[in-house]
Amino acid sequence: MGGAAFLIRGELDYGKHECKPQKKTFLQRLRLRRQPEGPKILEFGQGKLIDVPAEKLSGMSAAFREYLHNRIPKPWSSTNVFHEYLDAGVIGTYVRGEQPADSSSTDWYVQMTFSGCAGLGEIAAELGAHWAERWYQDEGDFITTSFLEPFHFTPGPSRSEDHFKRAFLPLGHLGYGLYVGHLKDQQYPPEYAFELDAGATEYMKYEDYLRLIKEIDETFEPVMSDGLCRCQLCMPDFDAASVEGRLKALLNQP
Ligand SMILES: [Zn+2]
Repeated sequence: MGGAAFLIRGELDYGKHECKPQKKTFLQRLRLRRQPEGPKILEFGQGKLIDVPAEKLSGMSAAFREYLHNRIPKPWSSTNVFHEYLDAGVIGTYVRGEQPADSSSTDWYVQMTFSGCAGLGEIAAELGAHWAERWYQDEGDFITTSFLEPFHFTPGPSRSEDHFKRAFLPLGHLGYGLYVGHLKDQQYPPEYAFELDAGATEYMKYEDYLRLIKEIDETFEPVMSDGLCRCQLCMPDFDAASVEGRLKALLNQP
């Protein structure tokens, strides 16, 4: 499964979410044919996964988008491409607990997922997880009091989880490129220093795409050699327009 996720680990007051059987009158039974949906428990070899219905947290995605609009009043072209991705309704919010078979304690987390759109938007999904983490760094208290505490979820001290540092470069109408050049000394190095969204280049002939990705490598890898993220939240003063101009020259666009 593709896509990317941002996780907030903490403690859930699970008792508040369990559905307790209630006595109902005949009329209530007729009117409410279905019980309200409670947590789903999936048992597997190494333990179990508890999936708590999280509709009450669905407002987080709108609050996240509002944060982006406030923080980025003048979006770059690449940021606008990301907003188009969000318009496709790609954010899911889940609350899950993992309980290993040999343990009685449960690891709870709230998870914001960003869909990879069947492989077309994997880089946008990575950017979504990156920006959700920034949102949590900036507005963690607001998120906690507005969403998490009413849900009986208490975030833990290690508030976020970003295993690897992501670095993006704004590439105009192609959206953001994910810089992977720092992985080139690994055993299975990536072929190119940047990964682009398939959805941004699928209209191109394959040979044109290969020529473009090579030229993007040669032109912009030196820009990213410090490994710093040049997204519009991390580096708002970055000259995205000059990258766009050089990119248009590569594509022979006016
Ligand atoms: Zn960034």
